[in-house]
Amino acid sequence: MAVAIYGMGVSRGVAIGRAHIARRSQFDAQERTIDPSLVDAEVNRFLAALTLAREQLSLIRRRLSTDTPVEIREFLDIHSLMLEDSSLTEGPIEIMREHHCNAEWALNVQRNRIKAIFEEMDDPYIASRVVDVDQVIHRIHQQLQAAETTDGGDGRQYQDLVLIADDVDPANLLLLHHEGIKGLVTESGGPLSHTAILARSLKIPAVMGLRNVCKLAEEGELVVLDGDMGAVMADPGTAIRRYYRERVRDARAHQAALNRIRRQPTQTLDGTHITLQANVDVSSDIDLLNANGAEGVGLYRTEYLFMNRPEEPDEDEQFEAYADIVRKLKGRPVTMRTLDLGADKRVDCRPATGSLPLNPSLGLRAIRMCLHNQDLFVPQLRAMLRASAFGPVRILIPMLSNTQELFQVRALLKAAEADVKRAGHTVGEVTLGGMIEVPAAAISARTFAKYLDFLSIGTNDLIQYTLAIDRVDDQVGYLYDPLHPAVLKLLQLTIEGAQIAGKPLSMCGEMAGDPNYTRLLLGLGLRDFSMRPGSLLEVRQVINGANLEDLRQSVRRIMRATNPNRMGALIREINQV
Ligand code: PEP
Ligand code: MG
Repeated sequence: MAVAIYGMGVSRGVAIGRAHIARRSQFDAQERTIDPSLVDAEVNRFLAALTLAREQLSLIRRRLSTDTPVEIREFLDIHSLMLEDSSLTEGPIEIMREHHCNAEWALNVQRNRIKAIFEEMDDPYIASRVVDVDQVIHRIHQQLQAAETTDGGDGRQYQDLVLIADDVDPANLLLLHHEGIKGLVTESGGPLSHTAILARSLKIPAVMGLRNVCKLAEEGELVVLDGDMGAVMADPGTAIRRYYRERVRDARAHQAALNRIRRQPTQTLDGTHITLQANVDVSSDIDLLNANGAEGVGLYRTEYLFMNRPEEPDEDEQFEAYADIVRKLKGRPVTMRTLDLGADKRVDCRPATGSLPLNPSLGLRAIRMCLHNQDLFVPQLRAMLRASAFGPVRILIPMLSNTQELFQVRALLKAAEADVKRAGHTVGEVTLGGMIEVPAAAISARTFAKYLDFLSIGTNDLIQYTLAIDRVDDQVGYLYDPLHPAVLKLLQLTIEGAQIAGKPLSMCGEMAGDPNYTRLLLGLGLRDFSMRPGSLLEVRQVINGANLEDLRQSVRRIMRATNPNRMGALIREINQV
């Protein structure tokens, strides 16, 4: 009989295949005593497993495509570094030599020691990296147990399988993708986890947060995974199978239709041009931006240039990186966000100053951090000004919460420009904009717009701060709701504020790249969207089939609704075309 269970749909699409169950938590670490004369051989077995784990990671890195999210590259860097760390390379060997024990047991003892150290850490971000420790140890263990391994790299045929696991790390998901896995179901994780981000980028349908699914599912049974609904169905009947096979066929046709609009303009049925830009983290993202016809860069997250390195990049190095992107854009505008460090984005080269705040998202983050560390901020402004010699640069300030901050930035920028010119550099067209991602800024968007050249809405943070939910905490992920009436009200206020002040406004948070929200945002008056390059075609397709006047009227009804249920129904209606 068909059984359906529900979790969080974190990557859209349908997968139909045979279930394969893989449980990482089954970490077999029984202690075995080794004869002293055989300890060297056991140590060699461990060293060979370490080498294989390193080779596996470097194979995964070689297979990365240009549009792999930067978070995944960083994740692989961190795991590679951990595989070189003496706590993992030497610690287990010392235990083996001291206790004359097997490598698995020694690895497990060392794992518990490292975890205890992490658990004592005050910094919640560092403490949360214990997950990485576990994943790296699991990779070594997998190599030790090569015959029994289950979640990747084990020579098993993964084509046509839906993987059902307690947890899968992004590196293994990359391997499984190459093996042809069709879908992913996990017990833990949520929409903002690295594995979920990667599943979306690889277009692997995925459902997460299904507690006990490994116990409920049976190896080899037919399952249907619906990533849109967050549902997994076991042993589906003929009608369900037929329905979902049709959905798979429709999805293929949809992709073919998307490919056909790569070179088309973006305009609504009534002929209004809508600007589509791309968010880029590294300059290699520009290839996909070009392939999908974006009109510029709506958000360049410069903090990635500062990550995973002991020394921060100086003005010249930053200038080279920024100028590279500006040159590649050939006259199209590049929106460069000044450093958004703090909260979950930390860098080794500039540890947070002072003691760690209890609420890092509300602390010395983004522009606050930059204004407190002008030796960090001013070289960045200078590098951006110099890069403008090669094309238009839009400097974007993150996390503005009061106008004083923007006046300070204007003053610093003015002084930097005079300095840069005095030093003989050319400065081209530079404008200054602000991110609207704090509710206070959304409410006073009109005032901010008056003093800025443009605005950009960062919905990821705006939603986090409006609904008081930590965006990286899976436990409250279910409260993350872009359609919450309070969020919609703030979006409306911001769009109207920019319109009244006559200043351009864009949106660069995840909401801008989700085609489910495109019609709503058009109806609210948004005319400029910036998103991951991979989302551009889907959003263009929705825009090209939209009638602005109809949407304006529907959104007016939505915003007038006082009952949240009625509001929800009207929002669903807007997408039923
Ligand atoms: C946002 O907050 O919406 C945004 C685009 O910035 P980030 O996700 O980098 O915080
Ligand atoms: Mg933000």
